[in-house]
Amino acid sequence: MTRARLILIGPPGVGKGTQSALLEERLGVKPLSSGVIFRSEIEADTDLGQLAKSYIDRGELVPNGITIQMMVKRLRSAEVRNRGFVLDGFPRTVRQAEALTEELEHEHIELTGVVSLEVEDEVVVERLSGRIGCTKCGEIYHSAAKPPRREGLCDKCNGPLLVREDDRPETIRARLRVFHENTQPVVDYYAAMGQLLRVDAVQEPERVFAQIVAGLGV
Ligand code: AMP
Repeated sequence: MTRARLILIGPPGVGKGTQSALLEERLGVKPLSSGVIFRSEIEADTDLGQLAKSYIDRGELVPNGITIQMMVKRLRSAEVRNRGFVLDGFPRTVRQAEALTEELEHEHIELTGVVSLEVEDEVVVERLSGRIGCTKCGEIYHSAAKPPRREGLCDKCNGPLLVREDDRPETIRARLRVFHENTQPVVDYYAAMGQLLRVDAVQEPERVFAQIVAGLGV
């Protein structure tokens, strides 16, 4: 098992979740998705979940302080230490990226690489508009491109399928604006550190995956 330490950056709907799942399956790394963690906090109705929900439903970013604290706690877990990690959706601001750099330096952990998944905005809107996710196992479907065999039910686990609250068209546009304003500078931050691999994410997921693995040598 490799103990890769990776970051996936890209606009919403680019396929970060799909690539994280492939990286977990093939390399054994632990996926850490800030969006998934926030949604499970909301589901469990915790204080953090209640606070995060108001931002998430509007397509805005949850404040840096609580997001950083939540992710650093996960990064310090024994499982993540043992398996390595693939961060998906974090860092999303330069402040978060700087906090992550500090944390990794403090823990003497080196990143294996940072991947920027790149795609046009219009493709994002098209992909997200039909996206349906399993509320139980997280499997992702698309009403046109990958419909489930039985409407409303997951092929894999029979769990109920749901359109995410923030996958409505107006919220998708807001999330794209947030990405260009706040997260594009994070791509530049890692490019300046010489750690960035850019991958064209319009391709089939397996090809995207193959380019990540070849580009990073993992
Ligand atoms: P995602 O599933 O990655 O698209 O995240 C869904 C939502 O969770 C985002 O639109 C934000 O509201 C919030 N979120 C996820 N990750 C972060 C982050 N690193 N910083 C701030 N907010 C975040």
